[in-house]
Amino acid sequence: MKNIVIFGAPGSGKGTQSDRLVAKYGYEHISTGDVLRAQIKNGTELGKTAKTYIDNGQLIPDSLMVDILAKTYDSFGKVEGVIFDGFPRTIPQAEALKAMLAERGTDVAVMLDLDVPEDELMARLINRGKTSGRADDNEETIKKRLDVYHLQTSPLIEWYKADGKYNHINGLGDMEKIFADICVVIDNAKSI
Ligand code: AMP
Repeated sequence: MKNIVIFGAPGSGKGTQSDRLVAKYGYEHISTGDVLRAQIKNGTELGKTAKTYIDNGQLIPDSLMVDILAKTYDSFGKVEGVIFDGFPRTIPQAEALKAMLAERGTDVAVMLDLDVPEDELMARLINRGKTSGRADDNEETIKKRLDVYHLQTSPLIEWYKADGKYNHINGLGDMEKIFADICVVIDNAKSI
């Protein structure tokens, strides 16, 4: 079993690379952002709560997220791997993920940090906003999301280094090259 954390700032290419990994390896994929957007679309109570945070560029409280994550993870049948895209985003979430996987006899195999410079992130997200229809892909909210990333999410880089799972990936440039770099790390990771 390979549990793979695809990590990076908003706009770093986590979703794009996750889709390609699913196509290549047949792994399951959890995008917490997609789960929340589906809840909003379906008008659920969770969706209503989530919307106020998402539209403001803020993170949804950890306790809610951890619950959603465990439910989604347990809905998968027997799989060779799971890609976590957009989770964890805080240190408590990383701790909860580790504990949840330990309870199920497994752990994170690798964390991949898609590293992209700030000006490129901004440009990509503004461009994405033209077609994504996402309420949070506008300049003001993008700035907030990048601030939240630096304050609350980027400390996970040191956390995963300490846990021995960290892998740096240059997320700028040719998409094929980025994907190939990711595949090398995954192929070399030990199944847990
Ligand atoms: P994403 O699609 O990953 O960019 O997520 C969009 C938004 O959903 C974020 O800006 C947060 O408001 C919320 N969100 C997604 N994943 C998480 C998470 N793991 N923890 C807290 N909030 C999240």
